Amino acid sequence: MSFKEASSPFDKASNVPATDNLLPIADLIVRSCDGTRFYVHKAILSRASHAFAAMLSGGDATNATGEDPKEQVVELEENACTLDALFRICYPTTDPVLKDARAVLDVMEASKKYIVDHAFDFCKNALVSPKILENDPFSVFAIACHYGLAEIARKAARQSLHVKFPPSKSPVGLERLSGSTLYSILQYRENCKGAVRRRVNTEEFWLETIDDPQTRNLLRFACKVCDPLQWQYDERNRLIEVDPTAYYRLVPHLLKDTPCWVPQEETARMLTSMMLLELKSTNWSCQSCREEVINTLQDFHNEVVMEVIDRAVSQVKLQLEFDE
Ligand SMILES: [Zn+2]
Repeated sequence: MSFKEASSPFDKASNVPATDNLLPIADLIVRSCDGTRFYVHKAILSRASHAFAAMLSGGDATNATGEDPKEQVVELEENACTLDALFRICYPTTDPVLKDARAVLDVMEASKKYIVDHAFDFCKNALVSPKILENDPFSVFAIACHYGLAEIARKAARQSLHVKFPPSKSPVGLERLSGSTLYSILQYRENCKGAVRRRVNTEEFWLETIDDPQTRNLLRFACKVCDPLQWQYDERNRLIEVDPTAYYRLVPHLLKDTPCWVPQEETARMLTSMMLLELKSTNWSCQSCREEVINTLQDFHNEVVMEVIDRAVSQVKLQLEFDE
């Protein structure tokens, strides 16, 4: 097998004594299963991991390269990506960026195997980073369930409502998920869909929501051109007269094509455009009025309409076999 060299600070060049390199020099080479050599410090690995400490004190490290008899080499089963991330978490250097759920799972397995608790915690945070959670919620769910992390599993299940099931590619860690856990997330998705549909599909719901006096106040605005005094004192003297039945028609129409009847990022904006068409008979006397109406409606949709749907979903419970 040909050897590749790890990147700095685990490369050979970073570990050559020189007048401009006063850092301690590596005293061990770790070789990954795919042939990359990492120049590392026994003291740092032993401090970060009891398993490394035991391995390195027990004389397991063998001279296996045949290149330089002074080099002490340990071969590990993990690939270069995983070891690079694990070592960067152990070293006082910039933390690694784990690119996807597969990379996170690999590092989690290595941190369990070598007993590096803070690397496992680092991976828990990586799982709920927006990049991984939003792109791949089913993988995050499967990994979280495998390790019994109920809070992360619930976050992932909630995020999965934005994604169709089955997803386009098989989730990482799916094979570790029990049938009953898979059933519970599918049931949860159906329950969320039902909870939203029951609300937005009834006329009474919209009458109640929009006729509430406090809620209605959010539909008031003032125009800095037409009502300069009111604008100055923030007296919202004008009301946007919306028709509750318009919401009854428009919101189910907007949600029916989403995976679980849960609003997407653009839903509030689309609802605003559609409501503006409904309001076309009203004459907004100036451009500034029109801008105020758009902004007021947009805020109203975010704060009230999306919020009530979100609350409906939050009340749905996800049953898990385990709990933290
Ligand atoms: Zn105006």
